[in-house]
Amino acid sequence: MIKRAKQRDCQMAFFPECFDYIGRNRDETIALGIEEDGQYINQFREVAREHRIWLSLGGFHNKDPSKNCLPFNTYLVLDENGETRSRYDKLHLFNLDLPGRIRLMESEFSTAGTDLVLPVDTPIGKLGTAICYDVRFPELSLWQRYKGAQILSYPAAFTVNTGLAHWETLLRARAIETQCYVVAAAQTGKHNEKRSSYGHSMVVDPWGAVIAQCSETVDMCFAEISLDYLDEVRALQPVLDHRRSDLYSLIANERSESKESVQFGPNTISSDTIFYRSGKSFAFVNLKPVKAGHVLVAPIREVKRLAELTDPETADLFITVTKIQRLLESYYKAEASTVTVQDGPDAGQTVPHVHVHVIPRTPGDFRDNEIYTVLEGHEDVRKPRTEEEMKTEADNYRNFLNR
Ligand code: AMP
Repeated sequence: MIKRAKQRDCQMAFFPECFDYIGRNRDETIALGIEEDGQYINQFREVAREHRIWLSLGGFHNKDPSKNCLPFNTYLVLDENGETRSRYDKLHLFNLDLPGRIRLMESEFSTAGTDLVLPVDTPIGKLGTAICYDVRFPELSLWQRYKGAQILSYPAAFTVNTGLAHWETLLRARAIETQCYVVAAAQTGKHNEKRSSYGHSMVVDPWGAVIAQCSETVDMCFAEISLDYLDEVRALQPVLDHRRSDLYSLIANERSESKESVQFGPNTISSDTIFYRSGKSFAFVNLKPVKAGHVLVAPIREVKRLAELTDPETADLFITVTKIQRLLESYYKAEASTVTVQDGPDAGQTVPHVHVHVIPRTPGDFRDNEIYTVLEGHEDVRKPRTEEEMKTEADNYRNFLNR
């Protein structure tokens, strides 16, 4: 099929969800799981190299032996050298239980992804990656559009019933509201006694017109992406500029891979001691912790008081705080945390840059729960830790988070 695509001068080929296999039951689905750098995916890397074509491979059952969890439903974008340019783990798992009719619980054999993934540059345009059921969540596609997407892709294995009712409507709606091309490669036909897929792989243009479609007898369809046409549609109806973001907003907690140091008031926090970054916040280890696990989460933008943050910054900060709290409670096997902000000097704030203290708590760790007194005075009484000590702690959290 890739060869045929290349003969038609295609620059990129899209495969459907479960292009690796569709298991007959939960156990088989888990047991057959493959690895991102294993033999099966590497064959696609070779073919991409041989034919000088980009490949959209998603999602497959991605078993990571270093992680003690069910496989991720992973979508890889490979370039013409077979190198991975983007990896996305499906965020919304498909769980449908209609007693007596259909039961498909993806969460029983897959682990949900945890991160938004930025659109990736490809020879056909900037591509936003999502998988199947994700198509029902327009916040995701709108966020991708805000991040520059020109094409949205939804490889799928839609059930027949939901496909009949919603497939084309959902794809066209996503194309119209984001003014992106939508490419949706889909499984089709009967896979086993219990499972069939709706099919109808299609490509929709930014005006909402279906410009290519497969059928039971046509196994591949071809489409031309015109970014000039996309710009024309966007100029004609600039809906993005007409959004009332003063009344509603799209707040997303994006993960950042930056390695830069960040200013924390007058202090420069080195990237070595930062163990998590979102789009607008960062989490770092403390110079003078009141106990093991006492870390700080702060907005990247330097502001003194909580109320100076924008709504998206406030949302991002506290979404990050809860993530870090979960991490620490799990790391320290704690069942409670103190989460606190000393907002202004009279409240005990010593560093004039908003920060949230996150401290995992265990029974009896502070006599009479005197944590607030300790917190207020700890800067004067405690000795600063060494850079090495702080770096090791941040490394430990980073590894734990990745696991
Ligand atoms: P607050 O008293 O609420 O303003 O808390 C300030 C916190 O920042 C204290 O927990 C300090 O230990 C911590 N801190 C101050 N300077 C640094 C630094 N350079 N790196 C990491 N933590 C710091």
